[in-house]
Amino acid sequence: MKKIAIMGAMPEEVAPILEKLGEYKTTKYADNEYYEATYKGVEVVVAYSKIGKVFSTLTASTMIQHFGCDKLLFSGVAGGINPSLKVGDLIVATKLSQHDLDITAFGHPFGFVPEGAVYVDADKEMIAMSKEVASDMGKTVQEGIIATGDQFVANEERKNWIGETFNADALEMEGASVAVVCNALDVPFFILRAISDAADMDASFSFDEFLETSAIISAEFVMKMLDKVIAK
Ligand code: SAH
Repeated sequence: MKKIAIMGAMPEEVAPILEKLGEYKTTKYADNEYYEATYKGVEVVVAYSKIGKVFSTLTASTMIQHFGCDKLLFSGVAGGINPSLKVGDLIVATKLSQHDLDITAFGHPFGFVPEGAVYVDADKEMIAMSKEVASDMGKTVQEGIIATGDQFVANEERKNWIGETFNADALEMEGASVAVVCNALDVPFFILRAISDAADMDASFSFDEFLETSAIISAEFVMKMLDKVIAK
């Protein structure tokens, strides 16, 4: 049985998805709202977690362990690191890392804790599907590494450090934590982001200007991914 989780961090990221789903049932659980719908005969659970690693961990875990989702799609916006990623461009995460996880004082690399890993790989099958979706839509999506941390990065120096340290192409605040949860619970996941800013000194202005449009770009792509996943 398929039950698919679709997650964002902020209301703006899930609103365009809920709009496409039409009717849904709202359930309150663990201080959050979950929206349950049937889409093309498949059960779907949608939620926005609130911003950051802790809230996104809680929501991903709830969607899997409480609501029984067995696949997870994330839709949202991110700051671009790779200069080829402009506002509105899409990035599909190949693997994700926590850029603010630091026990380097003990000789470990950034992003690593014992019994963990610096990177968590996203589901290869859904990454492959995203290429088909992109070509169906006549769009280009870039694959790349996403770095996650509990910081809104609006600083060229920090952004470059994250880019160099993790070989990251984009950064945001939820992807890697969702990845850790899904990996631990053996749930295939797909993380998509549309660029809202360049994580530089203008980032907060760019974010405010492009959040809504970039969130829609990401949500439209994720809905096409949902169609593909269901058709499989
Ligand atoms: N404007 C919001 C705060 C947004 S935080 C408020 O005032 O309430 C940024 C959100 O977008 C996070 O969910 C994160 O995942 C993503 N994001 C986009 N650009 C980012 C950047 N430059 N640094 C970190 N996260 C970013």
